[in-house]
Amino acid sequence: MPKAFKNLIGGKERDSASGRTFENRNPADWNEVVGIFPKSDRSDVKAAVDAAKQAYREWSLYPAPKRGDIVKKAGDIMVARKEELAREMTREMGKVLVEARGDVQEGIDTAYYSASEGRRMFGVTAPSELQNKFTMSMKVPAGVAGIISPWNFPMAIPTWKIFPALVSGDTIVFKPASDTPKTAATLVEILVEAGVPAGVVNIVHGGGNEVGMAIVENEDIDLISFTGSTTVGKKISEVASKSLKRVSLELGGKNAQVVMDDANLELALDGILWGAFGTTGQRCTATSRLILHEKIHDRFLDMLAERAAALKLGNGLDESVEVGPCVNEAQREKIHSYVEIGKKEGARLVLGGEPAKGGALDKGWFYKPTIFSSVRPDMTIAREEIFGPVLSVLKADSIEHAIDLLNGTIYGLSSSVYTRNINSAFKAIRDIKAGITYINAPTIGAETHMPFGGVKQTGNGHREGGASAFDFFTEIKTVYVDFSDKLQRAQIDTYSDNPGARRGKN
Ligand code: NAD
Repeated sequence: MPKAFKNLIGGKERDSASGRTFENRNPADWNEVVGIFPKSDRSDVKAAVDAAKQAYREWSLYPAPKRGDIVKKAGDIMVARKEELAREMTREMGKVLVEARGDVQEGIDTAYYSASEGRRMFGVTAPSELQNKFTMSMKVPAGVAGIISPWNFPMAIPTWKIFPALVSGDTIVFKPASDTPKTAATLVEILVEAGVPAGVVNIVHGGGNEVGMAIVENEDIDLISFTGSTTVGKKISEVASKSLKRVSLELGGKNAQVVMDDANLELALDGILWGAFGTTGQRCTATSRLILHEKIHDRFLDMLAERAAALKLGNGLDESVEVGPCVNEAQREKIHSYVEIGKKEGARLVLGGEPAKGGALDKGWFYKPTIFSSVRPDMTIAREEIFGPVLSVLKADSIEHAIDLLNGTIYGLSSSVYTRNINSAFKAIRDIKAGITYINAPTIGAETHMPFGGVKQTGNGHREGGASAFDFFTEIKTVYVDFSDKLQRAQIDTYSDNPGARRGKN
């Protein structure tokens, strides 16, 4: 009998108010139920927001370095449980074990980085323009944060948000993706064990429309940190603007890797295999387009097709497997519908293009690594995010042409250029419109202490990772202390050329 999980609201485990539940299943073996979770609604969200609001004052007054100590302890527990967490994640959403371990490690790195930031969270002191006056700015907690996360990085993405929010002094209502509730529940359990007080972190399981939107609409939520699709991000932005909530949106991508004719082709090949087919292409930073210089186009495509055809698909718990399943049936169908569109629009199918079947693969949502060549920039498969193991190959005749093609989408998350020519590399760094550019490395591989996010319709200008996350989860308060014992008027009494200026002894 699979375990039944609960929401955590105000430190108490609770079923959904309606008593409804949903199942979480293993995408590599659909018969296996990983857990049963509460299918919550608006009333559960209200209870969680009330609890977070009530816990806010005490938590926000607790010193930031001590808040950091609790987050560090959560990191220590994650280290001790790393293998168990990784296996749980693979069962829940299918990514292969080596990647699941990386996902957990990203959470650990974020814990230690965020904890250390509790002793930094620097403000600014600056000289006042007036005598006997002191000025400074400081970071203060921002309030109750609504955290809404996707399923593709079930540990890393929630920790990118929750750990800096906690160290900043915010309290939290967390709604994880309903494909990955178990990893989320374990993360919250770890935070409780690490010493997070009741009501500071609340988790409400359930669907996007019922739970996610109720969080966005709630007037007592001060800020929303959302990672997910551009479609949902736009809806959230629209609704949140009614109460002028601060919103951080990390959305879709259509990332490209460029390979120039002077590149180390073997290296570029390793890069594209990892970038396009790692996590079954289900990363916001996955390489979805490959732009090849015309001089190496045919040779590189042959090399790629041969290596991609040999990738081993299967249950990610088997250490020899390289590509796991799609997260669910709907996702696999969506991927296949894009493949059909690609064929209809005249792209050439080089590899794959259908669900992977046979033996154990029949039990899960597997899709063959797929490559299209002869893709034109106006084709749907060159423009829209597919979020699966499908790669569209385009041809360029120069670095300028390659950069133009790379920039030709509504998204701007990650980008990669393989070249040994320093001029081409620096042109790419300057001219590519994306939040992240890699030179001689694939589009995936972000490090937690560096800013992460995208431009154009990939986001709304915020960055996660590193110190920039703390800019989002705190407010800035500017403080002036006047110890002159008289009224001093900025801009007026500052300059003696103003006839109305008061000049006195200081
Ligand atoms: P999604 O937008 O369907 O869902 C994301 C989260 O939002 C889930 O928790 C979902 O339940 C919730 N949600 C859905 N509808 C909602 C609504 N109307 N109101 C409030 N919440 C709602 O995305 P997904 O399928 O879980 O994840 C894949 C997408 O996430 C891809 O587009 C991918 O590029 C993107 N992503 C972006 C980043 C990034 O940092 N830029 C990272 C990972 C994933």
